[in-house]
Amino acid sequence: MNIEDKKVVSFHYTLSNAEGEEMETSRERDPMSYLHGAGNIIPGLEKAMAGKTKGEQFEVTVEPADAYGERDENGIQRVPAKHFKNVGRLEPGQPVIMHTEQGQVQVTVVKVGRFNVDIDRNHPLAGQSLTFDVEITDVRDATAEEISHGHVHGPGGVNH
Ligand code: ZN
Repeated sequence: MNIEDKKVVSFHYTLSNAEGEEMETSRERDPMSYLHGAGNIIPGLEKAMAGKTKGEQFEVTVEPADAYGERDENGIQRVPAKHFKNVGRLEPGQPVIMHTEQGQVQVTVVKVGRFNVDIDRNHPLAGQSLTFDVEITDVRDATAEEISHGHVHGPGGVNH
């Protein structure tokens, strides 16, 4: 069964940056699952998955435009420290959830002052070329419910 729209794909991956440093791996946990064609994973990786099959291994390098986007220097903002009152002690580099008028966004702490905190709204992997070492562990048909929800249910997916 080849990977195409409306298939559920499970895979292991190891993610490295342009310097070849390993940044993340699924190897110590269960494989990740996604619904192909639903935009659940970054576009460059989804494109590389198309047509592959269970048991295949491959490596793909994805440029920022097809991954987490370019860095936006306006993404660094100074916000009042009171927004983070219930977070506890903040450290530079720490990811935190910020509540905004547009909802919750994950940001990264850049600098902590007494009254203000500088945060970066860019995704931590924005502006980076990413290399994925992938092993496809399973490909199956999505259920009608998964297709209507636009995501995978059960192991590796959403439980609700
Ligand atoms: Zn669902």
